[in-house]
Amino acid sequence: MGLMGDLQNTFSWSHSRRGAFERCQRQYWLTYYGSWGGWNRDAPPAVRQAYIEKKLTTRPMWIGTVVHDMAEGVLEDLMAGRNPNPDYHIRKAMSRANSDLRESRSERWREWPSRVCAFQDHYYGQEPPPEAWDEALGIIEAQLRGFFECTTYKRLHQVPERLIEVEKLTKVDVGDVPVWVKLDALVSDGSGGAVVIDWKTGKHHQTSVVAAQLGVYGLYCTLLHDIPADRIIAMHVNLRTGDRTQHPIDDTVLEQARADIQASADAMRTKLVDLPGNLAREEDFPKLPEGDERCAGCAFRRSCGREQPAREEA
Ligand code: SF4
Repeated sequence: MGLMGDLQNTFSWSHSRRGAFERCQRQYWLTYYGSWGGWNRDAPPAVRQAYIEKKLTTRPMWIGTVVHDMAEGVLEDLMAGRNPNPDYHIRKAMSRANSDLRESRSERWREWPSRVCAFQDHYYGQEPPPEAWDEALGIIEAQLRGFFECTTYKRLHQVPERLIEVEKLTKVDVGDVPVWVKLDALVSDGSGGAVVIDWKTGKHHQTSVVAAQLGVYGLYCTLLHDIPADRIIAMHVNLRTGDRTQHPIDDTVLEQARADIQASADAMRTKLVDLPGNLAREEDFPKLPEGDERCAGCAFRRSCGREQPAREEA
């Protein structure tokens, strides 16, 4: 069903949606269709279960969430003319991280899946050893401190008036495709151009994924902020290593992004049984082959009938 209460499940495109579609069609269906409406406690059990699974996190994802949330709060302080206190923000973020862990163990997410942190480990009954949590908390603290020490933050602290927006979820139309984009931060370069800042918290970043993101960022800046393509730079700041990489964007990158988004959205829409209603049937979205190792890390393995021991995360 595309309708649930007053809400309608309308089609839109995002970078993460493409990721799911290309990774596993069944995972895509469960994320965008099979779990729709599962926020209601009286939703059908299969829908509620898929919704709880959609909200599950992993340690690497959680590290990114805690660090990004703190960075967002700090930059919002700067935008509001306040001088962020690093100790305060780090303490608050670490307290939230410890609280996430407690809440996940308490299983309160069974009642409040959209509000309470839930780790795949706890959902699937596989509590990792204490050292794994200690390591993750150590990585979070190091990255929170790394944020305040990085050159990019120090520069933003000097020119906070150049911050244009922070973590603002916005819809932009690319051709006939509604696209959701959220930049970690968009900063004016002071002379008509802009820098898109992307905080990276993980170990590995695929070059193809980074390249695809750049095009989406560029389209967003040109379509919404009227910034010329050749005046946009995307900057990836790795809070794990402190490395910064800059990627210039130009018209070729934008045209490629337009074509990619259109092709990806067309592929998704051809799978629908009712295009205007955005209706999709589970059986049209196949699972990965039995035994595929990617299933071991998938949040939906219970809904999918592929429950097995979780893969140990880095
Ligand atoms: S368990 Fe495997 S087949 Fe099922 S949704 Fe996840 S990745 Fe796809």
